[in-house]
Amino acid sequence: AVRVRFAPSPTGTLHVGGARTALYNYLVARQHKDGVFVLRIEDTDTARSTRESEESMLADLRFLGLDWDEGPDKPGAVGPYRQSERIDVYKKVAQQLLESGDAYPCFCTEEELEAKRQAAEAAGKPPQYDRTWRDADPALVKEKIEAGEPYTVRFKVAPGRRVEIDDAVRGTVGWDADATVGDFILLRSSGMPVYNFCVAVDDALMGITTVIRAEEHLTNTLRQCLILEALKYPAPKYAHCSLILGEDRSKLSKRHGATSVDQFRAQGFLPDAMLNYLALLGWNDGTEQEVFSRQELIDRFSLNRVVKSPSVFDMAKLRWVNGQHLRALPDENLVPLVGACLEEEGMVKVGAEGAAFVSYATQVAKGSMELVNDAATIVGDVLTYPLEETLASGEADALVAEGLWEMAREVVSAFEANEMPRGKEEDFAALWKAWVKAVGKKMGRKGKQLFHPIRLALTGRMSGPDVGEQIRMLHLAETGATSVVDLP
Ligand code: GLU
Repeated sequence: AVRVRFAPSPTGTLHVGGARTALYNYLVARQHKDGVFVLRIEDTDTARSTRESEESMLADLRFLGLDWDEGPDKPGAVGPYRQSERIDVYKKVAQQLLESGDAYPCFCTEEELEAKRQAAEAAGKPPQYDRTWRDADPALVKEKIEAGEPYTVRFKVAPGRRVEIDDAVRGTVGWDADATVGDFILLRSSGMPVYNFCVAVDDALMGITTVIRAEEHLTNTLRQCLILEALKYPAPKYAHCSLILGEDRSKLSKRHGATSVDQFRAQGFLPDAMLNYLALLGWNDGTEQEVFSRQELIDRFSLNRVVKSPSVFDMAKLRWVNGQHLRALPDENLVPLVGACLEEEGMVKVGAEGAAFVSYATQVAKGSMELVNDAATIVGDVLTYPLEETLASGEADALVAEGLWEMAREVVSAFEANEMPRGKEEDFAALWKAWVKAVGKKMGRKGKQLFHPIRLALTGRMSGPDVGEQIRMLHLAETGATSVVDLP
């Protein structure tokens, strides 16, 4: 069965890059019947790793709905799932590799190694370990170990060894192992395993079949492949995803504004919209479709369609995608979100009376909102009557020249005479339409000639949400601060 893993280092918050990696892993797990998504915490760097960071990353993954099957809080058969709790496992595997002859003890001190590096540099040779202890006399090695001398465990790389992978994103990638890494260290003399050793051991013992991660880990693959091979573990499928850049095409960072999931969450982005946008940062399904539900992503995602070129994080696009997801929400989900936002802004007291207002406010805001919080601005705008500003801006000059005021007075007097429809909500749309038609007939106008003066007279603006919906909302807000028409 397919087993994937997301393996964050808990040294900060979950960023969009990490969230995208988690998403791609999740999608691959969920599109296979028995797919398993493992969450592994890579916290061997004790100086930089914290529990707070781990907890915030888990909270962000939960917010996004990227639920995992095995992890620190979900024990499975191959745990524990925090590397800091697996040190004994790594030591044991290092011992196995010593016994099988795939690794060997090296007694060189730091000073000796530094001297070797300098000598190699002076001679213009690659700065690799010169294998002093690789073919040492076993009796001598035994003696030193028994005397308690500290040693590192080094991996034995076969001379001339070449490693190649067929990366789902990058194609064939290869390295001359010997020339690139030499006999590298698995275990330090302190007994602490090195990072690549932990990753390879875990991928093997956790039965990982597909490794999906960021491009920055590509070079680690060489060491990891060699270790996996020595552990007799079949090489997993690899997919190294390209960088995410800011709009200035430099690596995405704090300078570019919000980059971590908790910031987007605080701004009110919907989890499914985030996933939709993150999926598109480096993947497309080959069609023009840009709005995908979670299930559509699961059904259509494919590592073979992940692009090799870096992606540019586009905040405006993310907002647009969020707006699409907001509009797709059924009213029973959207109305409470808008209500909470308006209540927070002090624009409505939620209750039986406020409910009708919120429901209409939602219809008014729906068409143009990208984030739920936009509802406050859109509704706030409707509650104002900026006629003077509109006239001063000159936008309405043409209307005025066409005899706007005669028309506007007619509209307003009809409104004030209470001829304006005030029926039940169900009837309102029809009543409004009939009223507009009647006014038009009386004035001998139709189309733009009719709608523009009505809009300007009743809302004080030349553009905005549907006028009828605004008026209905204002009716419902009547107990509030607003009087609908206050023509000078
Ligand atoms: N712990 C690494 C990171 O946070 C991921 C390593 C991997 O996926 O192999 O970037």
